[in-house]
Amino acid sequence: MTNNEIELEVLKILDKYVQRGGSHKQLLKIMQAEGIKFKEVSVSNDNFLGALTFGKNNNPYIMVNQSINNTGRRNFTIAHELGHYFLNHRLLSPVFLCQDSQINEDRVSEILLEREANYFATCLLMPEQKIKSAFLAMLRYSKIIKTKTFLIVNNKTYGSWCKIKNDLMKRYGVSEAALRYRLINLRLAEFEF
Ligand SMILES: [Zn+2]
Repeated sequence: MTNNEIELEVLKILDKYVQRGGSHKQLLKIMQAEGIKFKEVSVSNDNFLGALTFGKNNNPYIMVNQSINNTGRRNFTIAHELGHYFLNHRLLSPVFLCQDSQINEDRVSEILLEREANYFATCLLMPEQKIKSAFLAMLRYSKIIKTKTFLIVNNKTYGSWCKIKNDLMKRYGVSEAALRYRLINLRLAEFEF
């Protein structure tokens, strides 16, 4: 699937399940409404982050490793598994056991279905319209940042960036890495470090 096709799928889901606020607050609701059973599991393998499987009656299950101690990473993992679910990846594979190295918040995965699930998660948690307008509003109101359509994060703007980042990470339930990657891809920011 192309990125545009994935974005269209996400828009349908947002329309149905996320009327307002951050999508991360609706992840449980989305799973419930879709009849997906959610479990946090304790596994000894730290590389295992999340899974989408189907039970005997074809019931979908999403599992995440309960030892993920970063909220952003946890939300991204659930959103990633929802990606495998909503993008109908089961037609290509019956089960997804996703490793730490496959759930990439800030780079393109080499494995096609993982790449698609990651892009789905990025768009679900940080929809373009929402993150763009929130970010640009912050630039507009900043007294320190002079450019109002694009931010170059360097020594001068680092303090302002920290405020913006803390607000957006909280609002969208994402990690800094995921946020940076999204802003770079939407051509809203550039990072000198
Ligand atoms: Zn995966």
